[in-house]
Parts: sequence; C-alpha cells; structure tokens
Amino acid sequence: MRPSLLNPLFVSVESFKGIGPKLSAWIQQLCGPKAVDVLWHLPTALHHRPIIQTAPDTPTLATLQMTVTKHQISHHKKQPCIVFGTWADGDIQLVFFNYHASFLAQKMAVGQTIWVSGQVVPDKPFTKILHPDYIETDAHKIPQNEAVYPLKAGANGKVIRRLVEQILPTLPDLPDEIDDTLLTREKWPHWREAVCHVHSPKTMDDLDPQNPARRRLAFDELLANQTALHLVHKSNKIKNGFMLPHLDKLRLQLPFHLTGAQQKCLQQIRTDLASPERMTRLLQGDVGSGKTIVALLAALQAIENKTQVALLAPTDILAHQHFEKIQKLCQDLPVRVDLLTAREKGKKRTQLLTDLATGQIDLLIGTHALLEDNVSFSKLGLVIIDEQHRFGVKQRLALAEKEKQANVLVMTATPIPRTLALTAYGDMDISILNEKPAGRQPIDTRVMPISKIDPIIQKLKNTQTQVYWVCPLVEESQESDLTAAKKRYDALRKTFGDQVGLVHGQMKADEKDRAMADFVAGRTKILVSTTVIEVGVDVPTAGLMIVEHAERFGLATLHQLRGRVGRGQDKAVCLLLHGRLSQMGRERLGILRDSDDGFKIAEADLRLRGAGEVLGVRQSGLPVFKMADLTQHADLLQMANEYAVSLLQQDPALKTNHGQALKNMLYLFQKEKELNLLKAG
Ligand code: ADP
Ligand code: MG
Repeated sequence: MRPSLLNPLFVSVESFKGIGPKLSAWIQQLCGPKAVDVLWHLPTALHHRPIIQTAPDTPTLATLQMTVTKHQISHHKKQPCIVFGTWADGDIQLVFFNYHASFLAQKMAVGQTIWVSGQVVPDKPFTKILHPDYIETDAHKIPQNEAVYPLKAGANGKVIRRLVEQILPTLPDLPDEIDDTLLTREKWPHWREAVCHVHSPKTMDDLDPQNPARRRLAFDELLANQTALHLVHKSNKIKNGFMLPHLDKLRLQLPFHLTGAQQKCLQQIRTDLASPERMTRLLQGDVGSGKTIVALLAALQAIENKTQVALLAPTDILAHQHFEKIQKLCQDLPVRVDLLTAREKGKKRTQLLTDLATGQIDLLIGTHALLEDNVSFSKLGLVIIDEQHRFGVKQRLALAEKEKQANVLVMTATPIPRTLALTAYGDMDISILNEKPAGRQPIDTRVMPISKIDPIIQKLKNTQTQVYWVCPLVEESQESDLTAAKKRYDALRKTFGDQVGLVHGQMKADEKDRAMADFVAGRTKILVSTTVIEVGVDVPTAGLMIVEHAERFGLATLHQLRGRVGRGQDKAVCLLLHGRLSQMGRERLGILRDSDDGFKIAEADLRLRGAGEVLGVRQSGLPVFKMADLTQHADLLQMANEYAVSLLQQDPALKTNHGQALKNMLYLFQKEKELNLLKAG
C-alpha cells in the first residue's frame, strides 16, 4: 500500500480546476494521468516579462499598464477588433482577431485601467500588442518570469502552468531519503523545495541540468531506479536455480585455444551454474571476441547435468548460423541440437515440440518462436540470449519465465558505456570479454563521399575477396530500406551478373537461407543487404564491407557491421560512404575510422548524441528517465548506484526512516512492481 502521505501526488489531473475531459486527455498524452506526472514535466525555457514604461526599439515580450479609451468592434471575420488606449509612452492598440465584442467590453471596459502583457511592438506613432497573453486588473497576476513547458502541437502553454500552480501548494513535505551530509555537500534543497524551484525558474541558470534542484531530482530518480534494479537482482538470486556443476563429461575438440578472457568468463559462468543460486549473467564482448564458443561450453555443462538449453537469437539468419556451427562442433558428442523458427511448421513442428517436452532435445536454438506458449521444455536448465540488445527486457525475461529455476546468460556485442551499463544491466552480474582471439588484423576503415561509388564498383572487378554491401536506412522505414537494397542489387547485377546476392528481412525464410548459403560457399561474391546482417553473421572469407550513407546509421550499428569482416587471416577493408555531412556527422565517422574499440566508440557516441540515440532506447532496454539526463548526470548515476547498494545493505527491507523515504521515491517513479519483491522476499 502506498503511504497516504503521497496521496496528493496521485490525484488525477482532472480533479483540478479548469481541467475537463478534453484537456485531461491532452495532458495525459503529454505528461501522464496524475499530478506527479505533471511535476515530472519540466520547463525547458523561460519567458521574461519585464514591466516597461517606454516603448521598446524592437518587438519585446513585456508587461505594461494602460487605460482603455475606445473599442473598435468588427463584425467581419477578417477584420480585427481593436482596443485603443493610452499608456506611459503615448497611444496603444490591442489587436484581436475572432473575438467576441462582449468579451472585450467586459474585460476592458472603456475608462478602465488594466495590465496587459505580450509581444509589445513599436509601430510609431502607436505601440501595439497582438492578442496579449495576459489581461489583468492586478499586476501581480502576471508573472515576471514564466516557465515554458515543452508542448505537443495545438497546445496552450498556459494550461500546464496553471495546473502546476494548483499542484505546487498541495505538495507534501516528504522526508529526505538522502542523508544530510550529502545534501549539504551537494548544496541540494529538500524535495519539496526542489520541485517548486524547478517549476518556478527565474534565470536561465534554473533551467540548467546542473542546477542543484534539478540535480537533486535527477538523483532521486536514479536512486529509485538503481534500488529497483538491485531489488530485482536480489530476488532473482534468491530463487533456487538448478545446480549444474562442471562434470567435464562432454568435451569439445576446438581448433584453437580459448583466449585468457574467454577462460576467465567461462570460469565465472561455470561457478554460477554450479551454485544453487539462479544465474543472471551478462556476457559482454566486442564483435568477434568469441562469445558463441563460451556460450556453447556453458550449454554443455547444463546438458551434462541432464537439463536442456535454449539459445535465443534475434534473427532467422543468426539462429540458422548458430545451428549449423554448433551442430558441427557437437557432431561427435551425444547431444541433440535442434532448430525452431517461424518456418518449422506442421508435422515437423509438432514432432519437434513433442521431442522437446519429453526431453529428447538437449539444445534448442531459435528465434522469437521459442517464446511462444506452446513451446515447453522437459527440464530447462539454461537460457542463453544472444545479441540481447535486439530484444527488450521483457523478452529477455519471458524465456526465463518458462522455467523459474533456469539459469540465464545473456550476450551482447553492443558495448554499453560503463556509465550506462549500471542502469541497463544493473540487475545482472557482468562478465566482460575484453580480448580478441590472436592474429586478428585491424580493419582498414575509410570514410569517403558517396560520389566515389562508380570508381569503387569498377575496382570491385579486380578484387578477389567477398563483399558485403549494406544499403542505408531510409527514415527507419523497412520498405524504403528494401527499395534501396533492391535498386543497388539490380544495378550491381548489370556489372557482375550472378555473382551478386541479395538478402533482407522481408524475404521468405528459404530464400534468405539460399542467399546466405550461396555467399558462405562463395557462389556469390557480393552480398547486398539491409542491416539484417548486422548481428552475428560470420563468414570468414568476406574481406570488404561497403556501407552506403553511413552517416544515417548509429555508430554502434556501423561498428557491428564492420565486425562482419576481418574474421579471416587477410587484412579487411571497410568503406563508409557518406552523403552530405554535418560537422557532427564528420566527427562521428572519424571516431569510427580511428578506433576499433567498441567501448571507446560507444562512449564517444554517447558524448556526441546522448544516451537514447546511442542504443535506440527501444532496443537497449535502457529505462527512459524523466528527471535525469545521462549525458549530463553520469556522475549522479554512479553516486546513486553506490548509495542504493549501501542503503540496501544496511536496510534490506527498507524499514528504517531512510528506507521508508526511499520507498516513497520508488512509488513516485512508478516502481511498484519492484517494490512488491520486497514483500515477496
Ligand atoms: P562474437 O563474439 O562476435 O559472437 P563469435 O563467437 O562469432 O564472435 O566468434 C568469432 C569468430 O572467432 C568465430 O569464427 C570463432 O570460431 C572464432 N573464435 C572464437 N574464439 C576463438 C579463439 N580463442 N581463437 C581463435 N578463434 C576464435
Ligand atoms: Mg555472436
């Protein structure tokens, strides 16, 4: 139950004066349904309305006092009504279109002295204001500094301002979940004061993300978020997992030695699997660092213990590739590996599902199809999710839900800057593969204008290596991606005939397979594609990657794409072809050219473009923050995380005063679900 202290914050916006159903619907869309949602909608600009006595030289937002002398009423739609008057600097006209004469007569009777505020236009010999923002008898009713809220189209900024004015006096005096030492050190105001402050900006400084009041609220949010993640993590761990010790019965013959990093990560996973606590571990490693083999070795440990393993991949192509490689690697072992994607249908599917339910399949590889309800395992010991950034957090958990005792290993090549990893993966333990297999050559990356495309095509005639040719994202629309890829395919076929293949997301599964198989076997030399090949695809004979309109891709995606080449012995090349570049665009591609360290690239992209852009919030599972901006508040995230950890250590059930105060914050940032875990644990 939510403490009653918080009740005023959870009243619906409709209960405030002046908010009918129509406005309430609009506010819900903009901020949310409750008072607290409106509070989390911060002003982004400031209007200053000084009181003036003389006409400005240029149009200026200002407030002035005037006496009404005359009305000129118009009955034509296109003719304005004009209210004439005098003020400290001569004559003035207020101009209104589409107004009722009665409104004017009532608010601005002839002879009355009024205060008006708006864009004051010097129009000699008059002063003019078109549709004043305020018309009041009392100067106090017009703010000198006015918060400006971000709005959606068709909105009136006053609505939010008036609503906030009504909400602020109702704010409870929440006890601080932040201790006094920290408040004093950071010069942060108490909660209530902070909220009032951010909604009543007086100078531009008050809008700055580094303003103490804003930082305090950002900290509250990050603290709530990190606490929630730690609660989830703890509850996951408490649940009993299957104990799956390393028995060394199923041995793989590998054509190479594991790197030091692979051994280290594998050891961490082995220990987790053997322990009675359920594992939730992230294996993070740059493109080509060799995650698959680590995952397979972990899978064999689960299989040794007579449990099953599910391996979830984001694309059909990748699932298929994993299946083929893993099946080959396991061919001498008594392990049954199978594949389930949308294309396994009818009798075959039924049989497969039966075999799975009766425990005859040891390792099932697949796509989203694995998540369907009718897919049930006999004893699921380990869930592996590859390229987890392609899945939402929900999907990541959906598979684990199939068996509450199942251990979970998720893998990603999207290097998440350390600062963000805390919030994206705070609910998991992390293993990092920070070493690539020996003998890899750096990829020669070149940035060049797209106008060079014809000479490049000419040159391809004399190159031996196989080529990936990636076509651009066009406004994120799948269909237009497709058109671009098809066009390029047709154009290249004119020169290279049958040597050109095409693969894209909308292709039928078997066509896709054939295109990939032709490329793997070397029957095609150039593979034109959309970003479907971004993740995981592993064809060692491909040595050239060409990306058209590279400026339209995120750096992380480009880094992933580039990672498709340089997997063999020969030196690989990546050509980033770009259209017109902004200064930032040039900088971004430069980063990619100069570095092949995924972490560095992600950090730089974060700096240049902000967190949401780096990963695509939708894909990353990163929470969307309301108060905090990770590009501005990275230091706070670190602090909040440490604070959450130490608070939970001292007070695991959040029972002390501090703990209770922190609970309030969890409610305010809508972490009820995570709070429930407190009771469950
Ligand atoms: P990613 O981490 O991008 O998923 P993969 O698991 O696909 O990388 O591995 C990339 C390539 O490196 C594969 O062809 C794999 O067989 C090979 N590989 C993995 N580990 C090693 C190693 N220790 N030594 C040499 N090659 C390796
Ligand atoms: Mg991989």
